[in-house]
Amino acid sequence: MTSKAVYPGTFDPFTNGHLDITQRGARIFDELTVAVSADSVKSATFSVEERQMMIREAAADIPNVRVVAFEGLLVDFMRREHSRVILRGLRALSDFEYEFQFAQMNKQLAPETETFFIVTDAKYSYLSSRSVKEIFQLGGSIREFVPPVVLRRIEAHDAPPKKRKDRLE
Ligand code: ADP
Repeated sequence: MTSKAVYPGTFDPFTNGHLDITQRGARIFDELTVAVSADSVKSATFSVEERQMMIREAAADIPNVRVVAFEGLLVDFMRREHSRVILRGLRALSDFEYEFQFAQMNKQLAPETETFFIVTDAKYSYLSSRSVKEIFQLGGSIREFVPPVVLRRIEAHDAPPKKRKDRLE
């Protein structure tokens, strides 16, 4: 039997922490679907198409990963996908409460689903999409935090501050 999982998120933008969870998830499951939420409560900086494109490029070398967008409830998407495993990444205790509630709520809405957590690699434990955007807006280097393809797209998306040190040639 083929094992399948869905890794849902806002991915605004996709960071090295997200990529790490994707790579590790793809080693565990036969098929991994990265599902970009089109109507997250968080108002997104990047369009859902841009976010999908960035993830496709960043994960291009992982053959069993596909990237799709979804609207509406995650559990409805899971049912359409015939997938029962929700993959999530866990950073610190601060993630735990939110992730715990999200997992319990999804279980309540769709008892057939199971949430599978992968604990972040220590080097990404402080990394979030929000901090990446803030650092970039303030003119700092985000080269270490996002895949190169994502860096290029972020630079193309936002007019960079004058004194930027991390432009890719
Ligand atoms: P959401 O809006 O669904 O929380 P995010 O894009 O912020 O979406 O994150 C998607 C998933 O990836 C979440 O489970 C989150 O905890 C996890 N994640 C985010 N950043 C990291 C990281 N640096 N290391 C590991 N997991 C992460």
